[in-house]
Amino acid sequence: MKKINFMNPDEIIQEIEKKLWTINTKSKLTNFGIVESVTDEIVTVSGLSNVGYYEKVEFDNGSIGFVLDISEDRVLIILLNTIKNINCGTKVFSTGKVLDITISNEIIGRVVDALLQPIDGKPLVHEISSTKHYPIERYAPGITQRGTVNTPLKTGIKAIDILIPIGRGQRELLIGDRGTGKTSIAIDTIINQKKIDMGLKKVICIYCSIGQKKSNLASIVAQLKKFQAMEYTIVVAATASDPVAMQYISPLVACSIGEYFMDKGEDVLIIYDDLIKHAWSYRQISLLIKRPAGREAYPGDIFYLHSRLLERAAKMSDKNGGGSITALPIVETQENDLSAYIPTNIISITDGQIYLEYDLFNLGIRPAINVGLSVSRVGGKAQTKFMKELAGSIRLELSRFRELQSFIQFDNELEKISLQKIERGKRITEILKQSQYDTYSEALELLLVFSITNGLFDNVSIADVIIIEQKLVNFIKTKYPKNLNELLMSNKTNYNTLKSELEKELKDFKATLNTK
Ligand code: ATP
Ligand code: MG
Repeated sequence: MKKINFMNPDEIIQEIEKKLWTINTKSKLTNFGIVESVTDEIVTVSGLSNVGYYEKVEFDNGSIGFVLDISEDRVLIILLNTIKNINCGTKVFSTGKVLDITISNEIIGRVVDALLQPIDGKPLVHEISSTKHYPIERYAPGITQRGTVNTPLKTGIKAIDILIPIGRGQRELLIGDRGTGKTSIAIDTIINQKKIDMGLKKVICIYCSIGQKKSNLASIVAQLKKFQAMEYTIVVAATASDPVAMQYISPLVACSIGEYFMDKGEDVLIIYDDLIKHAWSYRQISLLIKRPAGREAYPGDIFYLHSRLLERAAKMSDKNGGGSITALPIVETQENDLSAYIPTNIISITDGQIYLEYDLFNLGIRPAINVGLSVSRVGGKAQTKFMKELAGSIRLELSRFRELQSFIQFDNELEKISLQKIERGKRITEILKQSQYDTYSEALELLLVFSITNGLFDNVSIADVIIIEQKLVNFIKTKYPKNLNELLMSNKTNYNTLKSELEKELKDFKATLNTK
């Protein structure tokens, strides 16, 4: 029979004590709260004692949201997605992290929502080596980290590149009534980045669509694909049917994506289409959480929200990588009213505006840019030397033309010189017309400006201006089939050589006109 070896009582006590001492009694702090009520995407939670503003929270059914408001006995959370119904009693866990995005190079070419989940039907797998986390709100780079705006961001649109030039790192507002061609300018600018002009660095483009219809978004993505622009573009979209919180965070997320690439030294272009709808989403959220409403029922800090966002656009100094974010926010006006609350706010935050007018659009002047009311405060520094010299005279001629045009309404008896100026102005206006998706290179723009100032179009009837312009463009394109910029690049350093080169081209072209 097997003998059982009993422990004596002392040994048993010793054994129990040993076990007791090794037990890990350290409590793990799991901060969670309980849902008290849910109304219109806003969840009131009690017991969530250790959270901060903008902190991401997770519900035990898998939904996520972020903290909007904190008071002594409750926290208000806005939902970013709803996996299943959230009811009273559902647990909510804090994460200790501000809402952030996980991003890698794989994002280029994709259409994603504001949480960076793909909405183009393909999975998004991040490349581990380049994956980073970026918070959706970040301090804008300080003045010492920034460099000066000195490189052009070519839109390919004649009127903008010549008269209202944009530099990399600049914030330029596109403003105008509904249907005046704001989005078209933005899309053309993205498409134009395909052509690397004058040996410049390629630009990574981000198109952020806020509160638009899904069908609109689909046609924009289709156009970008058609012109092979998706190869270097990211579309971040929160459509009108998405939760309002997604519309609210989408431009912040688009900016974080931009910062990821800017920090790698890349040049980035971000289009926010549009910030009025963004302001609406913030107004809706603020009214839902019962913050006091200010002017036009917008919350008092709406200016601060947009200035925080647009300040993040920057040109970094070479020491800090030399990257840049150029921001083109879009704002829709009502009946040309530039003095409404949000338009004036954003005009004062940006470095200039491109003002599109419905009347001009209807007169057939497209892009419908009101050159008199549009400005670019820093872009001129980024224009090339030749362009700056030639564009200056065009700007002057156009402003004299506008002055005289208003004068002529009262007095038909104008002297000969004034009449000449009016005729020149009319021809410049014709030449600045441009159809969609037909972008111009720097060399072509220079050639046109040079031809205007040298009077090529002065003896051509207004109706024929476009025909002659097209002939000139075709003449140059056939002469320099490989690279139109050969004309420009070969004479990069010497203005006089370029000038005589352009004069020669113009003379040759005139000869072809006479022979026909
Ligand atoms: P919304 O306020 O509805 O967003 P929008 O200001 O963004 O409008 P777009 O959608 O870009 O305007 O353009 C309105 C219409 O004008 C479109 O049908 C577009 O094809 C046309 N359009 C825009 N630019 C030009 C142009 N340069 N030449 C001819 N048609 C143009
Ligand atoms: Mg639009």
